[in-house]
Amino acid sequence: MDKTPIAINGTNGHVEQSSVLYRQLRQPPPKVVRSKGHYLYTDDGLEIFDASGGAAVCAIGHGHDRVKKAIAAQLDEIEYVYSLFFTTSAAERLSTLLTESTGGQMSRVFIVSSGTEAVEAALKMARQYFTELPQPQKQRTRFIARKQSYHGNTLGSLAVGSHPARRALYEPMLSANVSHVSPCYPYRESNGEDDETYVARLAQELEDEFQRVGPDTVCAFIAETMSGATLGCVPPVPGYLKAMKAVCERHGALFILDEVMAGMGRTGTLHAWEQEGVVPDLQTIAKGLGAGYTSIGALLVNQRVVAVLNQGTGAFMHSQTYQGNPLACAAAYEVQRTIQDENLLANVREMGKYLGELLKKRLSDHPHIGDIRGRGLFWAMELVKNKETKEPFGAKEQLAWNMHLAGLEHGICMIPGNGTVDGVVGDHIIVAPAYNITAQDIDLIVERTEKALRSRL
Ligand code: PLP
Repeated sequence: MDKTPIAINGTNGHVEQSSVLYRQLRQPPPKVVRSKGHYLYTDDGLEIFDASGGAAVCAIGHGHDRVKKAIAAQLDEIEYVYSLFFTTSAAERLSTLLTESTGGQMSRVFIVSSGTEAVEAALKMARQYFTELPQPQKQRTRFIARKQSYHGNTLGSLAVGSHPARRALYEPMLSANVSHVSPCYPYRESNGEDDETYVARLAQELEDEFQRVGPDTVCAFIAETMSGATLGCVPPVPGYLKAMKAVCERHGALFILDEVMAGMGRTGTLHAWEQEGVVPDLQTIAKGLGAGYTSIGALLVNQRVVAVLNQGTGAFMHSQTYQGNPLACAAAYEVQRTIQDENLLANVREMGKYLGELLKKRLSDHPHIGDIRGRGLFWAMELVKNKETKEPFGAKEQLAWNMHLAGLEHGICMIPGNGTVDGVVGDHIIVAPAYNITAQDIDLIVERTEKALRSRL
């Protein structure tokens, strides 16, 4: 299985010819020519274990026959209709599966093509809700979000998110009606107090922010159920989300959970909020929904919100050309049925526990690993210059990215946590493999991760 590592220079000789606008204009990433199961194969002969699941996307591995067949069957039936004019069985089936998966708590599904579009839809839905109340509250235009959060790269999502590096070039944001409170990030932000005191402090901070901006101007609070891209797999402290929702309820604001990354089984339950004893008013999902077979995201809407729109204009004033795309829906439906039929959520819990234990056993004593945290198959290692002081590496060192490159050299793909901004947050790397992983796969992931880390640090 192992092949001699080939230096990853990211050029592969395609620089001059390429017309793709890559993130790094002058440095295309390696080219993948084939994938199967947990493995990616590049044009220059690398065989890479996909421990990143893309960007925590590939829930059932690559090239699953069941999904390929479902897409082909859908192509024979109907590949596209405009959702303003027609619906399809594919969209109906998927939406029913999703609402049923919430025990009926979320009663309608708005299907889009990505995570950031799902977030945009959530923001608009929240705004519309307050204009459609029997006694409209049109002054509620403000969102409260969290520092160091990530909700997507379109301008609305970027405005509620607060990833300094991703926002920097585009300031000022289109929406100034956003403010940010502290995230739940015990490794750096707890004073060593117990969970209850820490949660009470964060809830008070949110309460204070409502008071500062005027409670009746706030439309919604938005948070990732489990922080992903920016903070790196930080599970919420017990009681945290309940306390935040209580503050929203006290002031009549909506509570939005962004489960684009942490949802659809990644943390061991289909919806990450199931483990927190809260139900959101609006919920966004994406990555694990289509598991990479097609581009799809969705907004799940609670009955409370649907009821208001129903007795108001009776319409959600937002639509997109590819909304409810039948091919995307058919693929996502088959992915979700595969997760059910193969009992993969139980595997996420069992293998996730093993992955966490093994990472801690092998890497906790590393002088530059400050924290190892996660839940389900969603684990991060925070890299620090100084373990005692938790001093992060500087942004210029691009450490997480370099660790990702080191991983490729050792035959493993990991997600580089790109939250690094000098003095704000540490680097981290994430492993988020497919849900149908075995204990042997995990041994290999940890072995290669360790080799990659120790090769640079
Ligand atoms: N929300 C969260 C929590 C995410 O992690 C991401 C992507 O990483 C997004 C939204 C944006 O999703 P997409 O990249 O599909 O637009």
